[in-house]
Parts: sequence; structure tokens; C-alpha cells
Amino acid sequence: MGGAAPELRGELRRLVHEHVPPHFLGAFTDDPSDLEAAQAFCRLLADNGLLCMTWPEEFGGRGASIWEQTVVREEMWAHHEPRGAQYMGVNWVGPTIMRHGTAEQQDTHLPPIARGEVIWCQGFSEPEAGSDLASLRTAARRDGDGWLISGQKIWTSYATMAQWCFLLARTSNDGRKQQGLTVFLVPMSDPAIEVRPIRAMLGPHHLNEVFFNDLRVTDADVLGTVDEGWKVVQEVLAYERVGIARYARCERLLQAAPSVLGARWDDLPGELKARWTRMLTHCRRARLLAYRVVSMQSGGAVQPGDAAAYRIAVTTLDQDSAEVLTEIAAYATPPSADTDEFDDDTAKWFRRAVEDHWRYSQAATVASGSIEMQRILLARALLAAS
Ligand SMILES: Cc1cc2nc3c(=O)[nH]c(=O)nc-3n(C[C@H](O)[C@H](O)[C@H](O)COP(=O)(O)OP(=O)(O)OC[C@H]3O[C@@H](n4cnc5c(N)ncnc54)[C@H](O)[C@@H]3O)c2cc1C
Repeated sequence: MGGAAPELRGELRRLVHEHVPPHFLGAFTDDPSDLEAAQAFCRLLADNGLLCMTWPEEFGGRGASIWEQTVVREEMWAHHEPRGAQYMGVNWVGPTIMRHGTAEQQDTHLPPIARGEVIWCQGFSEPEAGSDLASLRTAARRDGDGWLISGQKIWTSYATMAQWCFLLARTSNDGRKQQGLTVFLVPMSDPAIEVRPIRAMLGPHHLNEVFFNDLRVTDADVLGTVDEGWKVVQEVLAYERVGIARYARCERLLQAAPSVLGARWDDLPGELKARWTRMLTHCRRARLLAYRVVSMQSGGAVQPGDAAAYRIAVTTLDQDSAEVLTEIAAYATPPSADTDEFDDDTAKWFRRAVEDHWRYSQAATVASGSIEMQRILLARALLAAS
């Protein structure tokens, strides 16, 4: 990655420094001002042409390269994702609507995403359909010239705040279970939709149950072809799985450790320092695997096995680095009350950031498809290639 990347990185860091509150740890905390800060920051990125850089100009982007978008992903994730939930709209909702949407759907949905004004949620998983997504039961049945949708989704991130849902429902029971699924774009404000938050250690807004009680939609709300939604979902998942640059936050926290600890860094046991070094190497490994997938994306095709290899590396990095950082953070305290060499504000931020990283990393090997399923996808790809 060369060219304009260092300049863009510098610009993004300046914007974060000037417009994101100091010690920001993400949009979804108990403090509503964090969410407001993220929404304002999205609008600022959009005004500066940095939110949907890779989108074509006709859809509100500036036709930048996927490598520039990779820089944005890295810098945003490293700084605790000040775009809040917008990354989903930018990474996969918008691009999927560009490829499969009607002109009317593109006009309705793409400009608000490009302006950073709208939040989407993904209604795929159900209580009995997670890894085995194709066995989902939420059903859309024909009703005159429209459809009535009934059923339940679970683990729907951001459903309490989303204006739209990218919903997968069964429209027919003929043939294989992957057949007969359809994507609908539905407004979350409809009274036939009920959202129940699930309390979790990730904090508010992350996880929810969503109930559809005879939600009425029309053919204009179908994305792509009726009964052919599985193909659309495969694309979505391939893009979603490389959408978050988790290695960038791991690397930022690991690299911050020596300066945060100052003189106390020398107190770390050699064995812990060795693990810290190994984690930095694993950051590099995950970054290179991500770049491999990005280069395939820029060539037009990402195979599920390649996205899976990256995800296995980056999600295990997330969890392993969280363990190492937690041990290191225990040293981010003054050795004695009369020590004045310690920068307490930074140390406090570091301890909170590490704790947040640890909590968030626990879900990494489940969200967007469990690590066991990623291993199966990778194994299949390797066996097919041998
Ligand atoms: C933080 C977070 C955010 C999420 N956000 C969303 C969202 O916005 N929208 C959405 O639709 N979903 C979302 N999900 C749901 C996520 O996609 C599912 O949790 C995931 O696909 C796993 O499904 P499940 O929870 O039903 O587990 P299950 O599929 O029941 O799996 C349970 C365990 O069994 C293992 N297992 C299952 N089948 C096999 C097999 N064939 N071989 C070997 N092992 C197997 C799994 O690996 C896992 O360890 C989110 C999940 C998390 C954790």
C-alpha cells in the first residue's frame, strides 16, 4: 500500500484528534454523548469525501481505490470506530444495493448512506439458524400484490437505533433450503416490528431480538430476485468478513504499551515481553492476509476460503492480544503513591481501552460466522485446490 496512503492516514488522524472526544472508546457506551459524537463525525467524514470514498461518484462517492478505503477502515477501527454503526452501510449495504438494487432503491437508499445519516441493521440470524443460516424460518407469504412477513431474528446489532433492516426471509419451501430465500429492505419504524434489546457485556445497542408481526411490504422492497436471496447473502458475508480491520486496534494498543508504562515497562517479566513481541508479529500476519483479500477484491472476486483464512488469523489475534494486553495493563499503575513520573490520564485510558478490547474480542470468533465455520470453509477451499 503506497501512493496517497500516508497522506490520507495523516488526514484521518488529524480529524480524529480534532473532532473525536479524547479517550473515546466507541459509540455504544452508557454515555449517549458518545453516540452523538459518532454521528457528527460521520457527517464530517461525508462532508470531506472520506466516508464512502470507493463508491462511484454517481452514488455520492469519489471513486477512490479499495486501498484508500482500507486505510480508512484501519484508522477508524484503531481509534475505536468513531463511525459507529455506519461502517455496515459503507462496507456492504451500499455496495450490495449498487449491484442488485433497482434505480428506485438506489435513489432512496444510497444518498443517505453516503451522507452518513442512516443506520442499517442485518436481519439474518434466528434462534435456530445461525451457522446453518439457510434453515431460517422467518416467512414472507404472498398477500395480494405484496407480502406479509412474520418471524423472529436474534443477535441483530444496532436494531434499536437502525432506520432500515436488510432482512432475509423465506419465500418458498421448494427445493434445497438455500433456494426460496429473499432479501427485503424494510423500515424499522413500522409498528409491525418489535425490537427487544439483549443485555450483554458489549454494551448497549449491540445485540437485540427483532420480531416481525405480519409486516406488510411490497415487491418494491425486494432486493434482487425473489427466491434468489442466498446469492446476495453470500456476497454480503464475503464483504462483511473483511470489513473490519481488527488488527489495527490490536497493533495500536500493543504499540502504545511501552510509552504508557514508561519506566514500569522494565518491570515486565521477559516472558510477557516475548508474548507482546509475538503479538506484534501476529498483527503483521493478519494485516498481510487482509491485504491479500483486498487485492482479490480489487480484482473482482473474493473466494470464501480466502476471507476465512483472514478471519481466523484476525479473530484469534484479537483474543490472544487481549490476554497479553490485560496482563500488561496490570503494570499501568504507579509502583507507589509518591511516583510522579506516571501519566495517570493516559494510563487510565489504556486500562479502559484494554478492558474494552478484551470484552469486544470475546465475541470476535462468533460474530459474522463462528471460527469453526471459518475453519470448515478454509478446509473445503484447500481440499478443492489440492
Ligand atoms: C457481537 C455479535 C454481533 C452479531 N450481529 C449480528 C447481526 O447484526 N445480524 C445477524 O443476523 N446476526 C448477528 N450475529 C449472529 C452471528 O452471525 C451468529 O451468532 C453466528 O453465525 C453463529 O450462530 P449461532 O449463534 O446461532 O451459533 P450456532 O450456529 O448455534 O453455533 C454454536 C456453536 O456450534 C458450532 N457449530 C455449528 N455448526 C457447526 C458445524 N457444522 N461444525 C462444527 N461446529 C459447528 C459453532 O461454531 C458454535 O461454536 C452476531 C453475533 C455476535 C456475537
